[in-house]
Parts: sequence; C-alpha cells; structure tokens
Amino acid sequence: MEGARDDFFRRFRDDYGYPNAPKNVDEMRATEFKRLKGSVYLDHAGATLYSEAQLEAVFKDLSMNVYGNPHSQSDSGQTTSSIISEARQQVLKFFNASTRDYTCLFTSGATGALKLVGEFFPWTNESCYMYTMENHNSVLGIKEYALDLGAKAVAVDIEEVEHIRSPKKPFHFLKRSIQRRHEANTRGEIQNGNGSGNAYNLFAFPSECNFSGMKFPLELVNIVKGYDFQGSLQCRGSWFVLIDAAKGCATEPPDLSRYPADFVVCSFYKMFGFPTGLGALIVRNEAAKILKKKYFGGGTVSAAIADIDFVMRRESIEQLFEDGTVSFLDIASIRHGFNIIDRLTMPSIARHTDSLATYTRNKMRKLRHGNGLKLCLLYGQTVEKEPCNLGPTITFNLKRSNGSWFGYREVEKLASLSCIQLRTGCFCNPGACAKFLGLSHLDLHSNIEAGHVCWDDTDVLHGKPTGAVRISFGYMSTFEDAEKFMTFLITSFMMKTSLWKVLSFSESMAGSFTDARWRQLEGGAHLKSITIYPVKSCAGFSVSDWPLVNSGLKYDREWLLRGPNGEILTQKKVFCAWL
Ligand SMILES: *Cc1c(COP(=O)(O)O)cnc(C)c1O
Repeated sequence: MEGARDDFFRRFRDDYGYPNAPKNVDEMRATEFKRLKGSVYLDHAGATLYSEAQLEAVFKDLSMNVYGNPHSQSDSGQTTSSIISEARQQVLKFFNASTRDYTCLFTSGATGALKLVGEFFPWTNESCYMYTMENHNSVLGIKEYALDLGAKAVAVDIEEVEHIRSPKKPFHFLKRSIQRRHEANTRGEIQNGNGSGNAYNLFAFPSECNFSGMKFPLELVNIVKGYDFQGSLQCRGSWFVLIDAAKGCATEPPDLSRYPADFVVCSFYKMFGFPTGLGALIVRNEAAKILKKKYFGGGTVSAAIADIDFVMRRESIEQLFEDGTVSFLDIASIRHGFNIIDRLTMPSIARHTDSLATYTRNKMRKLRHGNGLKLCLLYGQTVEKEPCNLGPTITFNLKRSNGSWFGYREVEKLASLSCIQLRTGCFCNPGACAKFLGLSHLDLHSNIEAGHVCWDDTDVLHGKPTGAVRISFGYMSTFEDAEKFMTFLITSFMMKTSLWKVLSFSESMAGSFTDARWRQLEGGAHLKSITIYPVKSCAGFSVSDWPLVNSGLKYDREWLLRGPNGEILTQKKVFCAWL
C-alpha cells in the first residue's frame, strides 16, 4: 500500500483531507467513527454516517433543553418554534437562497417533498411533466399525479454536457411522450385547462444522478425557463423547475442565487447521517402560490367549523403546507450536523471525496485480466480525464477473463465477506439503469416476464446484467478505504484461484466454497495442495486428500461456531469487529 499511498499523495495532496479543520481525516476517523474500525463503508449514496461528536452534541442539546410542541404558546413551545425557524434559515443559507424569495418546508424526506410537489402541482390536460431519464423513482412517481389529471409526461435525454453549455438544442426527445388513456370511470378526474395556453408545466432533474454520479448542469434551470417546448411537444405555458438534490447535497448543494429553481428537495441523512426521516422542500415563494392543496391538518388552519363545510387556511407557506406537528426534535438536531460539515466546508468535502473517486476510477479502468480483457466496466463516464462533472460515486460491473459477467450479487456477497459495504441493483433509478446497461424496453419486459423484480437475486439474465455495483465516498472516507477496495477487486476477481483463497472467503467462521469459485477451479486450474482453515483467520492444516460430495468438500458449511451465550458466530459479526 505504501507505493500506492505515495502515488496518491503526489497527485491529490492539495485535495485530500481538511487541513483547516481541528482534526485531520485520520484522527477524525479514529475518534469520531470508532464503529467503522475494520470495515470499509462505501455506501454514502445510500446513507452517509453521523459522527460521534454530532450525536454527543444532539444528546446534550436534547438533555438540557425543554422542547415543547411548537404550536403551544408556552415557553417550551416557543423554544421549539425559534429553533425551527433558525433551522429553516440554516437550510436556506446552505442553498444560498434568500429568505425573501424562498421558504424551507420540512418534510419526511426527499421523497415526502417530491410527493408534495406532485400532489399539489396544478396539473391540467394542457400541462406537461418533463423529466430526465436519470431520475429516482421518487421523481418518476410524480408522473402518476400528472397523468391522472390528463397531463402529458415526457422523458428526455440530455445531450452531452458540452452542448448544454451552448444551449441551442440541449434536449433529445428520443422518448415518446406518455399520455394516459382515460376511459369511462377513470379513477382520476381530468382537469381541463382554460385553453388559453397558460398551463403550468414542470421539469425535473437530479443535481447529481444517484446511479452514475453524473452531475447535471444547473444551467438547465435557466435554459428550461427560456426554452420553447411548443414545437412537436405542444407544451405551452410557463415552466417550473424541480431539482432533486438528495444525492448532490452531500458534496455540492445547488446555489439558488445563481440557478433559481422553483423546487429543491433534500434529505438530511444523505448530508450528515442523522437524523433520518427528515428532509426539506425549498420552494420559491412565487411557485408556492400556484400549488393547490386539498387536505388540511393540525397547524394549517386559522379557523375550521366541524359540522359544516368551512375552513380558513393559514397564510404563511410553512403554516399552510406542514400538516400536523413537524418532527421538531429531529429539526432541532440538524444544526449539529451542519456544524460538522460547515467546519470542514463544502468545497473541501467536494475536493476530498472527488480525490478518492478519481483515484479509484482511474485505477479500476487500468485493471486487466491476464489476457488483456478489462475487469471493470464503469458506467456514466467515458473519458479518462475528469472534467469534475462526476460526484464521488462509481457504478460498474465486473467481467471474467472469458468475457462473461460476474453477477452483482456475487460481488456484493464477496465484498461483505471482506467487510466492504457497498450497494448493488438499480438504486431506485430505473431510467439510468436501463440507459447505462443498454436494456431496451424489450429486454426489460422479458426480464420482468422471466420473474426478475427489484431486490431479487437475479443479477444476470439472458447474458446481460440486470443491475450494477455502486461504491460511493463520504466526507470521512479515507485513502485506506479506497485502497482496501482496490485490493478486494484484485484478490477476489483477478488472481488465479487457489484453494487457499476459496477457503478464505468462507461465509461463516467455517471454511466453505462459493459456487463460482468451485466452477472456476474446474475450468482448467489444477489442484496443488489443500489447506483447511476451519476457522477464518486462524491457522490451517494441510491434508493430502479430502472426500468430495455433490455440493463440494465434505463437511463444508455443515458446522457452526457458537459464542459464549450460545449465539451463532458469523464472520460479519465477529471478524469485522476484530480488525
Ligand atoms: C436518496 C435519494 C432519494 C430519496 O430520498 P429519501 O430521503 O430516501 O426519500 C431521491 N433522490 C435521490 C437522487 C436520492 O439519492
């Protein structure tokens, strides 16, 4: 690792770590993330991690203050109210959004915020909902509200980023627009526009794609607002823009003073790990005016009479849209998360995580099997030089030397045995997944017919991967994380398979074979010796022969180690904690 470390620091010395923070990144890992000892956590796009200092600050805060219901006029209620309004200010500041133009609404997460926009947007049969192919399911789901009310939904491919910067023709309308056929008794009622061409349309894109890590140019906000979509699409009227910043926020929040989007959504666990179940919708005040809300809940009405059709809604945007009591203890906690990332500064977090991702990507691209075939196929990045339009996410699939695919489930299982935590599948982003894996509608349908659904174990179907492997770095990731991941790739997928290695990947504490390795072993390699390692990481013993049964070596996986309380010890439970 030493040579690699020198190489890394030669290139990334100025980007790696946080020279102006009280602790360097290694100290921070050793003191604030003790629970990571021995494991390599590479799923920050799934959820990043909170630091111990952050939790201690939250604990101290909640232990020392009396936080009452913010709707109560009591002192404790007022304490909560003021902490909530400070939190709103802090969120707006994070996005460089002026309080004059924007409001921060707290929601149950990025998904909750997206659902709010979809539900309250004034769709009519003259509206269009346009979204990029690369979008999270939670953004795609808005389509259901739009289609139900007679609007059109259009998926678009954005041309190369370079083209967008000179915005002559940035959109590729490769996809046909979708329109729901409304037959008699449809569940939704169609909202007729007034025919004057004043329809409201919505355009949605992610600031960073949670599949490929590709960063979308935020210029899109201004381009869409000034773009003429009338031509073949017949989308007239005014355009509103929604940015899904749930992933992008972890390293690079959109600057709303430069790119005045109408709606931006985020989730706090993606930024600093804690709390979960809390997100925000940052809404432009002008855009909030067009939203149409039906339901009223506690906290949102000035007056209501129980037994007649009468309700007076509250005036302010927060009061109108936040039904019931917001999750005020969670909201009180976010300032402690902001404290951590503010101290490091967002530009430093972006540089630090980018240095790790760039280094790892470049190394992965160079890995080749003995016959010259590349091990890794990386998605969403075609050029060697990094124009810094990628987030700290690497999504890929691995190939064997004979050109066949390693299934992503197999990669995930082996990673887990090496105490590496990563994510596999399509990451709730079916459009990006289909696009990067080259899956046509026909492929997708035949996969579904073959019984493949999200979350299952079918990782390769009809010779093509059905998903991918994703690693992603967070602000506390280190060079060692990246290097251990590289070592894992090389030792697990490139080295000549020997029985020793097979056994070292035992799933429980007992030695065992994985099927793929056994097959590989059959394919041409010959057996030189057998060493049995009954307990992972303990000394082994050599045997000259061993009986085989149908499933492999006799006794393999047929026994377990029990701990002092009779609990079954697994490598994941014990081994990672030992390291
Ligand atoms: C995580 C994520 C979401 C969903 O966020 P939740 O807080 O889980 O609702 C949406 N979009 C993107 C790009 C994400 O990364």
